[in-house]
Amino acid sequence: MTTLQATTTATIAPTARQAERTRIEGNKLAKRLRRDVGQAVADFNMIGDGDRVMVCLSGGKDSYALLDILRYLQAHAPIRFSIVAVNLDQKQPGFPEHVLPGYLRSIGVDFHIEEQDTYSIVKRVVPEGKTTCSLCSRLRRGILYRVADELGATRIALGHHRDDILETLFLNMFFGSKIKAMPPKLVSDDGRHIVIRPLAYCRESDLAAWAELQQFPIIPCNLCGSQENMQRQNVKAMLQDWDKRFPGRIKNLFRSLSRVVPSHLMDRDLHDFHHLEATGVPNPEGDKAFDPETFTDPAIFPLITEDGCTASEPG
Ligand code: SF4
Repeated sequence: MTTLQATTTATIAPTARQAERTRIEGNKLAKRLRRDVGQAVADFNMIGDGDRVMVCLSGGKDSYALLDILRYLQAHAPIRFSIVAVNLDQKQPGFPEHVLPGYLRSIGVDFHIEEQDTYSIVKRVVPEGKTTCSLCSRLRRGILYRVADELGATRIALGHHRDDILETLFLNMFFGSKIKAMPPKLVSDDGRHIVIRPLAYCRESDLAAWAELQQFPIIPCNLCGSQENMQRQNVKAMLQDWDKRFPGRIKNLFRSLSRVVPSHLMDRDLHDFHHLEATGVPNPEGDKAFDPETFTDPAIFPLITEDGCTASEPG
């Protein structure tokens, strides 16, 4: 082998290995995301035979991934449903209006771009320096409901994921004194639409990696000039920090949302404390009120000492 050949082989070999690794990782990621979405759709009966799903597309990584994964499921699911992608062009300065139509045509999906200058309305109505997001999202919501009617959509799909759901849970606790997250499926506030969140089980980091891998033409989300909600950013940072320092905690937190025990909270509307009477019937699953709670499943609570006491968390 000449020196040149040797050098060329040495440079190509790792690149080929890298490409193979990327391919394998990409396949795993695709499988995980499709499994997560399929599971959420099934668990909450999000989409049924004959549904027309309006996928709200903002141009951010999450909504691109939502459309992409739903299209995959559409091609492989045992039920038939149709998809229409909808983007609301709010006429924010600098919005690259050619990007989404170009992409949607290239993948051959049915789509509609709704042009409504909510940007000017918001700028006119909201005093300078005040946050514009609440009026902006109210206007957007109304428009999307109308568009859903016009397009005959039976489901409105939003791109919120697991991390959005957890952030909302903590925001509601910290600032709203409520235990309330984001439902994966709900009836809209006008009572006329079913809104679904098929990415409810997906991790944001997976969606970001998928967007990168698929090279979605991302549209920046700061075009309106509004500051991102600082409280949400703080809660996001808190959760990311926990995720790094306490492996498994975020997973457990998320699981806890589907394992709620109303009799062990304090909401008198959810549990009738007032009329509670002794039944006289022993219940092995019942609350052992005098014993401290133990956590035997390390996947549920990893910080446990040998004597069954909970350990204090590391720094
Ligand atoms: S960030 Fe901008 S576009 Fe988004 S809700 Fe707020 S005002 Fe509207």
